[in-house]
Amino acid sequence: MEEYDIAVVGGGPAGIMAAITASQNSSRVVLLEKNSSLGRKLLMTGGGRCNITNLKPIKKLLNSYSQKNFLKHSFYTFTNEDLFSLFQDKGLGFIQEDDNRIFPETEKSLDILNVLTEYLDDVVISYNFEVESIRQGFIINDKIKADKVIIATGGITYPQTGCGMKNYSLTSQPITDIKYGLVPLLTKRDLSDIAGVTLYDVVISYKKSRVKGNVLFSHVGLTGPGIINLSNEISEVLSYNLLESGPDFDIDIAVDLVPELSRDQLNERFTGDFQSKGKTMLKNYLKLFLTNRFIGFFLDEIGLDGEIQLSKINKKSKNRLIENLKRFTFEIDGFNSDLAKVTIGGVDLANINPKTMESTLIPGLYFAGEVLDLHGPTGGYNLKIAFSTGYLAGLSASDR
Ligand SMILES: Cc1cc2nc3c(=O)[nH]c(=O)nc-3n(C[C@H](O)[C@H](O)[C@H](O)COP(=O)(O)OP(=O)(O)OC[C@H]3O[C@@H](n4cnc5c(N)ncnc54)[C@H](O)[C@@H]3O)c2cc1C
Repeated sequence: MEEYDIAVVGGGPAGIMAAITASQNSSRVVLLEKNSSLGRKLLMTGGGRCNITNLKPIKKLLNSYSQKNFLKHSFYTFTNEDLFSLFQDKGLGFIQEDDNRIFPETEKSLDILNVLTEYLDDVVISYNFEVESIRQGFIINDKIKADKVIIATGGITYPQTGCGMKNYSLTSQPITDIKYGLVPLLTKRDLSDIAGVTLYDVVISYKKSRVKGNVLFSHVGLTGPGIINLSNEISEVLSYNLLESGPDFDIDIAVDLVPELSRDQLNERFTGDFQSKGKTMLKNYLKLFLTNRFIGFFLDEIGLDGEIQLSKINKKSKNRLIENLKRFTFEIDGFNSDLAKVTIGGVDLANINPKTMESTLIPGLYFAGEVLDLHGPTGGYNLKIAFSTGYLAGLSASDR
């Protein structure tokens, strides 16, 4: 039987980071990956460009996560500056885009993976090694013995990258409800006519959750950063667990198409304009408020004639217009789960020490990355979790 100080299960960003850190701390480390290569999901991130982290100041960054108290220690232990140094030391710099999103200057996730791999020289990597059992004393698949184990097997999304439900059974820990996160929404209504249209900076709401961002129409429903972020809030509110059954959908979401103006301000504006621009057709007037390609669809949906002149619009129609500009609703049929980017839920944080990432139930067993009940919005927040918790798990497990 091969013997190691530390076995890391899962060669995604969290597991790779844990293995690098533990080996730099003089531990004998084996990294076990069920695929024939490392970081398959990492290669897909940011559309192949890898939005590696988010550069918000650390306090604001932490406020973007519902599990901020748990993440605090790992974020302060391995900061964005530490992450940048790791890559800059090997010659890879970064660029910043809107919303504090950070990408490698080459805009290739492969370059991120290549640099990480350069740090793995002292780590034994076993490819095509699917961990199926971890027995006490840490005997893995009856082949490997390790003093400590770090589990970094990821979540459920994009199963072709190595993720899946069955990995949770390896953890020997209580698991919270498993749900899809950062996922496009399917609509009851066919949106093919406006597929490709984007609504910029609208406010989307579901129950008490409100998210500002862009909405992109696809052939099957709604996507774009605003929708993707709202999907996390929907998932959190809906009661379901994919380990048992999927969600039963019957929900509406509302879009405020003109968030910069209140109902009263719109009313005042329309009252004036409908007189002063009386001969203008409604469909042309609405160009002041809505994207051109969306106007026809919008008017059809709310049953108003686009050719009507503003002076001929009665009070009832004006009110209907205002109501729908402020609250245009979509009936949601489900999640487009094939495209979910993260998993909500995972190993229950109640049994993990946030200062070390070690299980409080099984000493010597550590966790990192998406396998934990941790997730963030879109914009580099999820790789940030993987790298910081991976670093902390590797550091603590190798601390002798
Ligand atoms: C399309 C897409 C785009 C994304 N873009 C971004 C982005 O730009 N920025 C961002 O911050 N986040 C992004 N994310 C989210 C991010 O990729 C994940 O949060 C991150 O990869 C999680 O890292 P991880 O190491 O915890 O898990 P993973 O990356 O899922 O790695 C887990 C690894 O464990 C291996 N494994 C699983 N079970 C076993 C087993 N039993 N034995 C051995 N090995 C096993 C798997 O094969 C896999 O290699 C994106 C996700 C997707 C799907």
